[in-house]
Amino acid sequence: MMRKLFRTATISAFAAAAMSASLLSQAQDKQFIAIGTGGPTGVYFQVGQAVCQMVHAEAAEGRKEGMKHGIRCSAPSTGGSTYNIGQIAQGELDFGVAQADWQFHAVNCSKEDKVTCFKDLRAVFSVHPEPYHVIAAEGSGIQSWNDLEGKRFNIGNPGSGQRGTTEELISGHGWSMDKFGQTTELTSTEQSSALCDGKIDAYGYTVGVPNAGVSVATDGCDAYIVDLGDDSAAQALVDEHAYYSWATIPAGTYKTTDKDTTTFGVRATFVTSADVPDDVVYAVTKAVFENIDTFRRLHPAFANLKPETMISAALSAPLHAGAKKYYKEKGWL
Ligand code: GLU
Repeated sequence: MMRKLFRTATISAFAAAAMSASLLSQAQDKQFIAIGTGGPTGVYFQVGQAVCQMVHAEAAEGRKEGMKHGIRCSAPSTGGSTYNIGQIAQGELDFGVAQADWQFHAVNCSKEDKVTCFKDLRAVFSVHPEPYHVIAAEGSGIQSWNDLEGKRFNIGNPGSGQRGTTEELISGHGWSMDKFGQTTELTSTEQSSALCDGKIDAYGYTVGVPNAGVSVATDGCDAYIVDLGDDSAAQALVDEHAYYSWATIPAGTYKTTDKDTTTFGVRATFVTSADVPDDVVYAVTKAVFENIDTFRRLHPAFANLKPETMISAALSAPLHAGAKKYYKEKGWL
């Protein structure tokens, strides 16, 4: 059964009588939202915590000075992009973080075997860039995609954006899974320790830079990021799809990144459903953009967030009406 999205706190007549008028209005306005993220060591999890922190800051300020909104927010760890979109479609989550490629395919129903077809998907804003990383174990000898032949490669858990994008790259090379020695479906939290423990030779991961999960492998056991600058399938993905572009992971990002590393990538986006009420999306959008300096400080991957990019780049689903209202008020649209 579908969870009811917004639960307006109901209060009994007895309790109401005991409450002051202001407490009463706060209780009546209380709403709970859930934001789908990714693995706990990734950047999506940090996006969710940051958005909730900004939403709650406005609610706390409201308690002192006249309520801005009564939204309470949680951002649990999830399987990632395509899981989040599927759960938003079912009304189980209200918002989620998702890679731009899977936002595109969901709203256009263009990869129904990989992501739920959901025409009511709505964009709110885009967030940080996410380069696609092939991370290889020290001593594995992997210097290019072709070197993955016969190796043990983690393609990611079903529901993750990394899984979908890895499959795009695999088919872009004309490969099937049996080209690898073995494929595993470990989560983003499991893959780095599996690499350091010698259980896999490499993994593919679409993620913001820097992040704690990758550093477990690079700083922990000298794993390194493979340069895909000459990769023909990456080139084709960038040439054929607006949501992919070239990306550079700068020298010095991790212990083993001794030179700028080229790969392709997407952007992370923040999405919702047309069914989520306009006032809720408006309040969340406003909380984020009125506190953008706080947002930038909460994780190094957010340091360069710019409103003009966030409201335009990588958004293939229509903007939600609540977000649009805020952007129009600001004169940004
Ligand atoms: N891009 C990844 C995915 O969609 C998640 C990355 C992260 O957790 O930061 O599964």
